[in-house]
Amino acid sequence: MAAWAKGIQNMQEEPLDEALKEIDIQMRKSFLEENQRDETPIIRPSSGTVCATQSYYIKNGFKREPMPPTIMATFVMGHFVHEITYAALRSGLPDGVNIDTEISCETGFPEGCNKMGTADLVLTIEDESLLPEMEVKHILGDVKTMTGFGFRGHKSAGYDQLGSDCWGHVSQLSTYSHSPTLMEKYPGIEKAGALLIAANKESPQMGIWPRHVAPRAIAEARERTLKNIHVSKDEHPGADLFDKYGSEVAFYCGASGRKGYCPYVKRCQEERRKSDYAK
Ligand code: SF4
Repeated sequence: MAAWAKGIQNMQEEPLDEALKEIDIQMRKSFLEENQRDETPIIRPSSGTVCATQSYYIKNGFKREPMPPTIMATFVMGHFVHEITYAALRSGLPDGVNIDTEISCETGFPEGCNKMGTADLVLTIEDESLLPEMEVKHILGDVKTMTGFGFRGHKSAGYDQLGSDCWGHVSQLSTYSHSPTLMEKYPGIEKAGALLIAANKESPQMGIWPRHVAPRAIAEARERTLKNIHVSKDEHPGADLFDKYGSEVAFYCGASGRKGYCPYVKRCQEERRKSDYAK
């Protein structure tokens, strides 16, 4: 956080130019290409709200609800916040700490899942005297733009173990921390846990808030993700997230009326209402 604040106040021209170039590319791509795509449904283990039920629906080829047509506005805002965060960190990190961003990598997941992904950032402590107690010199980081409500929750959340992880943030970290590409490029990264870096999109002046997610929480998330991926096509798993978290989950899945999170939310709600697996 101190590095971010220092970077924001002393923004360097080179990382800023790099960020502006990338923002231009990402915005063009989002508005001119991504909103045209009609892709085959695949399981995206690294995205939020992936659950066993959703994997079952995908494997059975059930019809999806389309994403809201205005969702691109949310995506481009996310790209903008990411790029400015990277530029601030590049400008403010101390000598001896290196940062790589937007790293394309294999997920290592089986057929039917997304095979490639993009990790937000990896920090490398080149100067060991900075953090002598650190056994591994690389650590993965993921930037999440959050509302003020989410930001406050993140600041006090426990990340020693998995917890609810309704947004799938820890699942996403577990995907990238165990990516074959990253484990080869950054030896030991899978043992370091990871940083979940919140950026408050409602009050950007509050800065970023990184929290360390313990290796145990990452391991639990990975186990759950693998279980979700390998769900049987022939056996309905029940309303996975709904059953685990009750009505609270409607907010995350989109069942509370907020569109755009799970494309199967209507089917899921309907089945849950009718079936004996519903609680
Ligand atoms: S609505 Fe929620 S519980 Fe149901 S399939 Fe989608 S993510 Fe899973």
